[in-house]
Amino acid sequence: PSRNDVYYFGAGPAPLPTPVLEQASKVLLSYNDSGIGITEISHRSSDANAILAHAQSSLRQLLDIPESDGPDGYQILFLQGGGSGEFSAVVYNMVSMWVAKRLKALGGDEAKLKEEVEQKMKLDYFVTGSWSLKASQEASRLVGGESVNIVTDSRKHNDGKFGVIAPTESWTQTQSEQDTVLTYYCDNETVDGVEFQSAPSGANLVADMSSNFLSRAVDVRKHAVIFGGAQKNIGTTGITIAIVSNSILPPHAEMADPKLLRKLGLPIGPVVLDWPTIAKNNSLYNTLPIFDVWIAGQVMGRLLDQSPSANPRIAGQEAESNRKAQMLYKILDESPIYHVVPDKSVRSRMNICVRVKGGDADAEKTFIKGAEARGLMGLKGHRSVGGIRISNYNAVPVAAAEKLAKYMVDFANETK
Ligand code: PLP
Repeated sequence: PSRNDVYYFGAGPAPLPTPVLEQASKVLLSYNDSGIGITEISHRSSDANAILAHAQSSLRQLLDIPESDGPDGYQILFLQGGGSGEFSAVVYNMVSMWVAKRLKALGGDEAKLKEEVEQKMKLDYFVTGSWSLKASQEASRLVGGESVNIVTDSRKHNDGKFGVIAPTESWTQTQSEQDTVLTYYCDNETVDGVEFQSAPSGANLVADMSSNFLSRAVDVRKHAVIFGGAQKNIGTTGITIAIVSNSILPPHAEMADPKLLRKLGLPIGPVVLDWPTIAKNNSLYNTLPIFDVWIAGQVMGRLLDQSPSANPRIAGQEAESNRKAQMLYKILDESPIYHVVPDKSVRSRMNICVRVKGGDADAEKTFIKGAEARGLMGLKGHRSVGGIRISNYNAVPVAAAEKLAKYMVDFANETK
């Protein structure tokens, strides 16, 4: 089949809008009619700087990200290492910042600081699915499990499985703001189909938005950090975006001396994950894959065009994401052969996790085979949970959701 015969609902690297891919094939050969391809131009050239600035300013407009050099402003960083790289970066950077802050508050008393690190320092994690679980495990690996506080583990409220977010009253957040290094949540759990309906609150709030980035408006000001790999909703695999509050970066915040971290037995991150270094160098500390940044910029440009007068500018895409998700959930709810896995209150608009006939392996295989015959690809659930997963990323057009919706109705009628 050719590209035009296929709709892809996979949760891996998302399909890009076709016009962006067509343009990409041209710039790979020759960028700006220079005769030199985009992957060949230096990341320090003026062309590369313009590509970077365009992507940053587009993201600022889409999510209404405050721009100022003061503590209220945010930096937009492009990094490598994926979402998983940021699981580690979050710990390295936030612990370093916390240590420097506490040392100052304790008047430089390192013995007292050591006591605080051992007895009080906490990294709070909401574990609502397999990605936040992984992030919390990385934190435990780096600073020790004693310092990691699991605010909630959804599995304890749902027979050992993800699929809910337990009520606020059951959350066990660290009471003292002073002791809280960070409060971490994954806004959309890609494998489990669970999405926060609104951001939780907490000191130094960190959000992983890898799989729902740019699908709705975000209260950026509530967060210290928002990060996500580009490959689901923004572009190609290879870059990670971090939106970092100036309030946790120099000169507004200090970072700890590596010698002190070593003395305290705390980890020192690699320089390529060091946000202050990346911010100081405007994401060009080392070679940045400019082609990936260009792709992200093109995708964002299209989103901006979608709602030229909305505020924030992501409103157009948000409406479309909601419309597609509602259409699909409606059909799933109407037929008894389908069962949506997560609880209704936390259903993801991006990753729709479904069982067919109560998880009947044959029925699910037949469903996937029939879909593929109609050019509806990528519907197999994650290997760890099985079933069907419809990933409804930004690049999935409304027509694709409509075609899938029709197939699901036909399949239900034929299967009974
Ligand atoms: N966070 C979420 C929500 C994800 O969906 C993924 C990957 O699918 C990751 C983190 C890990 O990202 P990466 O593979 O870029 O390290």
